Amino acid sequence: MKPVIALVGRPNVGKSTVFNRLTKSRDAIVADFAGLTRDRHYGTGKQGRHEYIVIDTGGFEPTAESGIYMEMAKQTRQAVAEADVVIFVVDARAGVSAQDYDIANYLRKLGKPTVLAANKAEGMTDGVKLTEFYELGLGDVHGMSAAHGQGIRDLVDLALEPL
Ligand code: GDP
Ligand code: MG
Repeated sequence: MKPVIALVGRPNVGKSTVFNRLTKSRDAIVADFAGLTRDRHYGTGKQGRHEYIVIDTGGFEPTAESGIYMEMAKQTRQAVAEADVVIFVVDARAGVSAQDYDIANYLRKLGKPTVLAANKAEGMTDGVKLTEFYELGLGDVHGMSAAHGQGIRDLVDLALEPL
């Protein structure tokens, strides 16, 4: 079984853009993997000899109690449950948000291996802004830019390393 990576984060941080960078084939593979649900967005990717499955999710509102946000939260929890490792995507330009704290708390409690990826970090050379993400208590911050294709290889290495 290939390792499963779930992409989690609040809306608009660039999860789907990361997903597109990490995957070559999408959705069609789902049928091949018993135990994975169909109602999320799956893809497969490969780096060197290492193949993996990626799950994209909608924005995560861990405290949502109704409607579409509750449904998205449920979907995300299921994706995280299916995953061997989580990539928690945050927005390097926006900085830490209250929602990021909610998600970080949720992931920390689960104790699943988590890589913290600060996306949209293109051109942020000094890294000062990235240090505030250490407050989330999830360890090192990986600066990257999905839109510009920067830091993708390292992201996959970091995700697969603990497995
Ligand atoms: P999602 O809601 O988390 O899936 O986010 P999307 O992947 O849909 O991206 C949200 C917006 O952020 C889109 O306008 C993307 O083009 C933009 N975006 C994604 N990655 C980057 C990046 O690395 N840098 C910048 N500047 N914008 C990005
Ligand atoms: Mg998306």
